[in-house]
Amino acid sequence: MSKKIQAIRGMNDLLPKDSNLWMFVERHMSDLFASYGYKNIRTPVVEKTDTFCRAIGQATDIVEKEMYSWKESNGDSLSLRPEGTAGCVRMMIEHNLPREGIQKVFYQGAMFRHERPQKGRYRQFHQAGLEVFGAPDAKVDAELMMITHSLWQKLGLKNITLEINTLGSSEARASYRDILIDYFSSNKNQLDEDSLRRLETNPLRILDSKNPAMQDLINNAPKLMAHLDEESAQHFEQFKAYLDVLNIDFVINTRLVRGLDYYNRSVFEWTTTDLGAQGTICAGGRYDGLVEKMGGKPTPAVGLAIGLERLILLLEAQNITAQQSQLAIYIVTPNNEAQLKSMQMASTLHQSLDNVIIYNDITLGSLKSQFKKADKADADFALILGEEELNNNQVSIKPLKSREQQLTLSLDEAIKYFKDYT
Ligand code: ATP
Ligand code: MG
Repeated sequence: MSKKIQAIRGMNDLLPKDSNLWMFVERHMSDLFASYGYKNIRTPVVEKTDTFCRAIGQATDIVEKEMYSWKESNGDSLSLRPEGTAGCVRMMIEHNLPREGIQKVFYQGAMFRHERPQKGRYRQFHQAGLEVFGAPDAKVDAELMMITHSLWQKLGLKNITLEINTLGSSEARASYRDILIDYFSSNKNQLDEDSLRRLETNPLRILDSKNPAMQDLINNAPKLMAHLDEESAQHFEQFKAYLDVLNIDFVINTRLVRGLDYYNRSVFEWTTTDLGAQGTICAGGRYDGLVEKMGGKPTPAVGLAIGLERLILLLEAQNITAQQSQLAIYIVTPNNEAQLKSMQMASTLHQSLDNVIIYNDITLGSLKSQFKKADKADADFALILGEEELNNNQVSIKPLKSREQQLTLSLDEAIKYFKDYT
């Protein structure tokens, strides 16, 4: 007996019954991003491991333990992408795009991280991301907040908070790092194992620790805000001023440092309390040094990524469903003569009507069972091609969701009827 085949833990199927909500979200998102002048890009799912190590940083959760990597027979180490920014930066450099002017792009796709699967945390998950290259001003950072804020509104979401912080220039960040090492080293006995390791590699990440026993220590830690360079302080003031004119509420969270190494200046997260521990649905920040670090010309950049599974979970938690605005028609074909004609008719209907779903019966069952199928498909109308209709070159329209009368019309008249209806 062969073993039952199954998907891999932490990697999910999207079932037909659930995909409407995903399509609803994806459609809203790409329309919105495009309306702000962002262009869609697609990069490979696999890149050289080095691309991710250099971009994300050695001392991060992702590179330390979450990447799916393997060796090719020629010795190259390759990885499944754990996030979208590294590949995007690689693409910008490889194709020299920032030379052509400011680049505003968006992407959407599967990401892979070897994490412990739980609600809102998977091994294959999906992100939609926005990135802007070549624009140093806080106006762009604020535009990203404007777009995401508007997305939550368009989707009808509530209870989402914007948290922001600034990490200063990379020099300010480096000297703050030393200050933190001093502080945590003199309190070493209060650090857990993870934090002891991070003390050497990535002390800012200690601020991110959720360990309840360490909260007092963290709350009393020196604040980066107090060690900010003048330009970054101004940049942060501008960022906040833009958010104010946009009427976007925010809270300053000085512990927000983000997991990745590459950030400087603005960092932000959109969070909710409706999803338990996995409450961050969107996160990002400025990464002015990364393009140069990856081998390109110095190019300021800022970006964010939305976790789509978490966004969908939040929509479900808030009982938001995809509104079906499409008219659905089910063609009922009670006899064999109707089959050829029904194909022709379905084709004409598709060509004549926009935004319509047409189910052309393929069960070839009894009249009664075809009507049942039409109801199950949630069709608004049945279009009946019975014997009489065939003989008279007509169709009958039976409304399935109202008590209106059944009509018998020519196909042209039927098309006009549906056009007026939509
Ligand atoms: P977390 O602290 O939750 O692990 P992160 O800092 O690792 O998040 P990012 O790398 O900033 O996350 O990714 C951006 C967004 O992608 C997150 O805010 C989240 O919504 C989503 N995300 C990250 N990892 C996962 C995952 N394993 N499963 C589902 N969504 C994820
Ligand atoms: Mg993580």
